[in-house]
Amino acid sequence: MKFGGTSIASIERIRNVARHIARERQLGHDIAVVVSAMAGKTNELAGWCEEAAKLCDRREYDAVVASGEQVTAGLLAIVLQEQGIAARSWQGWQIPILTSNEHGSARIKHIGAAAILDGFAARGEVAVIAGFQGLHKESGRIATLGRGGSDTSAVAVAAALGAVRCDIYTDVDGVYTTDPQIVPKAKRLDRVAFEEMLEMASLGAKVLQVRSVELAMVHKVKTFVRSSFDDPGGFKQGTLICGEEDIVESQVVTGIAFSRDEAQITLRRVADRPGIAAAIFMPLAEANINVDMIVQVASEDSGVTDITFTVSAADFARAQTILFKAQPEIGFSSQHGASDVVKISAIGVGMRSHAGVAALAFKALAEKGINIRAITTSEIKFSVLIEAAYTELAVRTLHTLYGLDKA
Ligand code: ASP
Ligand code: MG
Repeated sequence: MKFGGTSIASIERIRNVARHIARERQLGHDIAVVVSAMAGKTNELAGWCEEAAKLCDRREYDAVVASGEQVTAGLLAIVLQEQGIAARSWQGWQIPILTSNEHGSARIKHIGAAAILDGFAARGEVAVIAGFQGLHKESGRIATLGRGGSDTSAVAVAAALGAVRCDIYTDVDGVYTTDPQIVPKAKRLDRVAFEEMLEMASLGAKVLQVRSVELAMVHKVKTFVRSSFDDPGGFKQGTLICGEEDIVESQVVTGIAFSRDEAQITLRRVADRPGIAAAIFMPLAEANINVDMIVQVASEDSGVTDITFTVSAADFARAQTILFKAQPEIGFSSQHGASDVVKISAIGVGMRSHAGVAALAFKALAEKGINIRAITTSEIKFSVLIEAAYTELAVRTLHTLYGLDKA
C-alpha cells in the first residue's frame, strides 16, 4: 500500500490511513506500506536547499529532501502501534533499498526483502517504508529517486516482496480518460493496460511517476490506483493497471493526455545533406537535453530545408544557446522558438488494429480551426503540437470524437 502526500498531510489523515491498513490486515494480508512526505513538505525542503545555495551539492540536497518521508514513516508506525497494530518504520538504508548514485534522480538497483519478510513471519509486523529514498552503497550516501519517486519505491517493494498487488492511494479515485478539470465529462477507467499507462504518464497525466509504471510493466505488478479519501470500510473503486490480456473490452482510444511543458524550436534554411541531423542533435544530447517531436521538410532544388523539433520547457533556453553556439557547424540561417505550445496525445492499445485513428483527429481539429505544428505517432498513440491557447478546445474535441464522453 502506498500513500501520497495529501493522504498523510496531518495526524488526522494518518489515522485514516491506519484504518485502511487495519482493513487489509483483517483480510489476512501481510502489509508493507510506502509513504510520501506530507503534502508540500518536499517542495519546502527543496526550496530551502535552493535558498542556501543556487547550485547546491546534490548529495546534501538528497540528505535534506529525503527527510520528509522519514517523518511520515515514523508517524504512521506510531499511529498503528497506538491502534494495537504491530508496526515499525524503515528508512531506505535500513532495508536496504540500494540505488545508483544519480542524486536527485537515482534508480533502484536492489531491495533486500529478507528483514521485512522476517518482520511479517516473526512478529506480524506492518513494515512502514519511507518512499523516495535509498542508499548508494559504494559511497554510503542517501539518494532520492526524483520527484514523485515514492510511487516507484512502492512498485519496487511490491516486486521485491512478490506482493499480490500494489495499491496506490492518492487524492483521486483512479485514472481518468483525461483531466476532469478540463473535461468535466472525463470518466474513471476501470482498467488500463501497462503500456497505455506508461504512455499516459509520459505524455502528461500526473497520477503516477513514469518509472513506477515501467517497473510495474517489467515485473508485472498489478497496480491499483484508488483514493484514501474513500470510506476505509466502504466499497472500493479505482483503476487497475494490468496486462492487456486482463482487459476484456477496450476502446480504440483509452485516454487523452496533454503536456504544457513543451517548447518548439525551428531552424531555417539548414543544408539538406548527410550529417546535418547529427550536427543539430548531438550537441543537445551531450547536454542531456531530450528532443521529442522532429519534423523535417523535404527540400526542393535549393538544397536547404527547415527543421522543427520540441524540447521540454525547462531545457528551452539552454537548447537555444547550444544551437546558436553550433550555428557555424550546422549552418542554419535563423532560429525561431515558441514556448506557448502544448502537446496533446491520444492513447490506446486498440490503435494497433485500427486504421485512420489519427486522421479523424486531424480532421476534427481542422474543423475547429486549430493548426497542427508537428505530429508524431507510434503503435499505440499519436501526439500533435498546437498553440497553447487551444488546449481545452482540443482536448474536449478529441475526448468527444473518440466516444469518451459516454462511459
Ligand atoms: N515526496 C516526494 C515528492 O514530493 C516523493 C513523492 O511524493 O512521491 O516528490
Ligand atoms: Mg505522487
